[in-house]
Amino acid sequence: MEISDHEPLAPRTTLGVGGKARYFALARSESDVIQALGWAKAREVPVRVLGGGSNLVVADQGFDGLVVGVELRGVSFSPTTGGALLTARAGEPWDDVVESAVRRGLAGLEGLSGIPGSVGATPIQNVGAYGQEVAETIDSVRAVDRATLEPLELDAKACRFSYRDSFFKSEAPERFVVIEVRFALPQRPPGVVRYPDLQRELSRQHLTQPSLADVRAAVLAVRAEKSMLLDPSDPNGRSCGSFFLNPVVSSADAERIERLLPDASLPKYPQPDGRMKLAAGWLIEHSGFHKGLRDGHVGLSTKHALAIVAHGGATASEVRRFAQKIQAGVEARFGVALAPEPNFWGF
Ligand SMILES: Cc1cc2nc3c(=O)[nH]c(=O)nc-3n(C[C@H](O)[C@H](O)[C@H](O)COP(=O)(O)OP(=O)(O)OC[C@H]3O[C@@H](n4cnc5c(N)ncnc54)[C@H](O)[C@@H]3O)c2cc1C
Repeated sequence: MEISDHEPLAPRTTLGVGGKARYFALARSESDVIQALGWAKAREVPVRVLGGGSNLVVADQGFDGLVVGVELRGVSFSPTTGGALLTARAGEPWDDVVESAVRRGLAGLEGLSGIPGSVGATPIQNVGAYGQEVAETIDSVRAVDRATLEPLELDAKACRFSYRDSFFKSEAPERFVVIEVRFALPQRPPGVVRYPDLQRELSRQHLTQPSLADVRAAVLAVRAEKSMLLDPSDPNGRSCGSFFLNPVVSSADAERIERLLPDASLPKYPQPDGRMKLAAGWLIEHSGFHKGLRDGHVGLSTKHALAIVAHGGATASEVRRFAQKIQAGVEARFGVALAPEPNFWGF
C-alpha cells in the first residue's frame, strides 16, 4: 500500500469542490487499513476515511492529514431461516448491493435504491430514504478502531442508530474505519409502501401488489425526477444530496410555525417522543429560497430545494457561504436551526 502526496480530492467527491489531501492511501484489505492507520498514528497525522465522496464538502485548502480511500471489495450471502445474511465489504458500491439483494428476493434494502456511495458509509449516518433506513436490517458492523489498530464487531445495538445518526458519527467521530457490514434480510415481498411519491409512481403503473423489483424501479424513477441519482449529464448533478437534516421540533414549535403561514400546509411527521419532524426543504422554500435559485457558482437544485448544487467554477467556500445564508434565512423566518447533513473536511 502506497502513501501518495497532495492528492486532489474534488474529483473524488460528488460535489466536486475543494483542495488536496496532504497524504493519500487506497486500502484494498483490512491489513491495508491497519497499516495506513498505523502510519498516521506513528506520525500523529489526522486521518479521514473516504468512500464514494457523496456526503462530503472538502475545504478549498484541502485536508492536512492522511485520507484513506476504502476500496475493500466482496459480497457474500449465507442462508438463514426465512432469509439470508448479506455481508458486504466497505468499498462495495451501495446500489450494486441493493440490486443483488432485490434480485435474490431479499427485502429491506429496496427503498434505499439509488443512494450513491459505498457500503462502509451506510452505518455512519444510518442512511435512509422512502421510509427505510439501514438500522432496520444491519446485523453487525466490522470496523478497525484507530485507537488500538484492532478490528472488532459491533452489533446493531452497539451502533446506536437514530435518524441520520449513529455511535460512529456522533459519539466516536473519526475513530472507526468500517471494513464490512452484515445485513439480515428476510425473503419476502415488500412491506406496505407508505411514501406518497412512491405510491403515486406505483399506481401510475397499476401495480397494486408490487414486487421488490417494482419498488426498486419506482424508487429509481422518483429519485431520477428529483435529480437524486448520480448522473453526470444532469445540470443538478454536482451535489451531496440533501444538504440539511429535517429538523425535529417540539409540537408547540410546530404549531407556532403553522400559525406563521396559516394558508400553507406544513409537512410534519410525529416522532415516537412526541416531537415533530419537519421537512427542511419546505422551510427553505417558504423562507424565500426557491428551487433553482443561483448565487454565484452555486445554487439550489431546480428539482429539490434541499440540495445545494455546485456549478462550474464553484468553490467550497461559496458552497459553505450559501449554506450559511440559507440557515440564517430559515432561522430568521421560522426560528428553526437547520443542521447540515454532509461532513466538512479541512474547514
Ligand atoms: C444525489 C445524492 C442523493 C443522496 N441521497 C441520499 C439519501 O436518500 N439518503 C441518505 O441517507 N443519503 C443520501 N445521500 C448522501 C450519501 O450518498 C450517503 O450518505 C452515502 O452513504 C455516503 O457514502 P459515501 O461512500 O459516498 O461516503 P463519503 O461521502 O465518502 O463519506 C461520508 C462520511 O462517511 C465516512 N465514511 C465513509 N466510508 C467509511 C468507512 N468505510 N468507515 C468509516 N467511515 C466512513 C466518511 O469519513 C464521512 O464522514 C445522497 C447523496 C447524493 C449525492
